Amino acid sequence: MEILKERIRKEGKIKEGNVLKVDSFLNHQMDIELFSEIGKEFKRRFEGAEINKILTIEASGIGIACVAAQSFHVPVVFAKKTQTKNIAGDVHTTKVQSYTHGRIYDIIVAKEFLGEGDKVLLIDDFLANGKALEGLIDLVEKSGAELVGAGIVIEKGFQAGGDALRGRGIRLESLAIVESMDEKTGRIVFRGDAANK
Ligand code: 5GP
Repeated sequence: MEILKERIRKEGKIKEGNVLKVDSFLNHQMDIELFSEIGKEFKRRFEGAEINKILTIEASGIGIACVAAQSFHVPVVFAKKTQTKNIAGDVHTTKVQSYTHGRIYDIIVAKEFLGEGDKVLLIDDFLANGKALEGLIDLVEKSGAELVGAGIVIEKGFQAGGDALRGRGIRLESLAIVESMDEKTGRIVFRGDAANK
């Protein structure tokens, strides 16, 4: 998605630990017109697929999922992060390791909002090692719902998550795949770019 790549090239900041900061349009300030284009692109890529629910994870996924939902005309459910020791019985739960903080936390979704008969599209902002998506997939599986696929705004293709999930046969649509990024020069190369660009 060219307009997205241009924004990443222009405004993305490469931080220690292979973190790409896009706070000016995605993760802090949010460019809703861009989100709208992102939503339409997800819709185009999943055209014809039967989807009745979008599932994301708090917090960064929510805004994108909500705008995308306007193209799909389906509700959004977000998995909540919780530190509660005793999780009540009416929820599906799993553990996720945070990429940015390293720690492991529980995520939950109420059984009331995810279950048999649901055909689910996952949406998230970033894909790195795949832990967040794996957690969401686990919730879908536990609930008896059907996983249709996952839409990701930015995949870091040099990290393991994307290949591992595709290897499991999961339909993954990433709108921008970063092949490499250099903290020193600030250079970002996307999959599909000419090799010498
Ligand atoms: P994963 O679970 O795939 O390792 O990491 C994905 C999650 O970590 C995303 O939900 C996102 O919030 C966060 N994340 C991973 N890498 C980055 C990054 O380079 N930049 C930002 N802003 N968030 C990231």
